[in-house]
Amino acid sequence: MTRPWESDEITERPPLPEAVKDRPPTMDQNAIERFNLPKDWQHCGWEKRGTTNGGRDFTHLAIEGAVYKTTYSRGPRKGQINYRKPEPGTEASISLTSEEMDAWIIQWEVETGYCHNCWGTGYAWNGWTAGIGTRYKPCRRCAATGKRALAEAAA
Ligand SMILES: [Zn+2]
Repeated sequence: MTRPWESDEITERPPLPEAVKDRPPTMDQNAIERFNLPKDWQHCGWEKRGTTNGGRDFTHLAIEGAVYKTTYSRGPRKGQINYRKPEPGTEASISLTSEEMDAWIIQWEVETGYCHNCWGTGYAWNGWTAGIGTRYKPCRRCAATGKRALAEAAA
């Protein structure tokens, strides 16, 4: 039996294009741009609201976050971010509708010229396995080119 990760999967993705490094196609980046948050702002939690279709569809995401710079100085979490100690004045509770998120992703692709599914690398996230780590495989959306999908451009 050939397991998926023994065929065309890789565990080390090619380096991200500079433009993607600076502006990743993430929920956090969307929030930063939409609400003019500090560029190192990140979520600490989010929740789907108005779910239908067994939780797959939703009307919006409720997101909480801040800028976090404090790390645990000792204990089992030493070196990890302490989400209980946000930088003063950076905390924000925001909401993004699913339409806003979809529109932003399309705009991101138009502006960067890259495929959002594989972050412009040609390799999309394909799961995580203990002992192997993060697994990537050639991106179907852009035929592993990393470029903005032609199908999307034609739509
Ligand atoms: Zn792709």
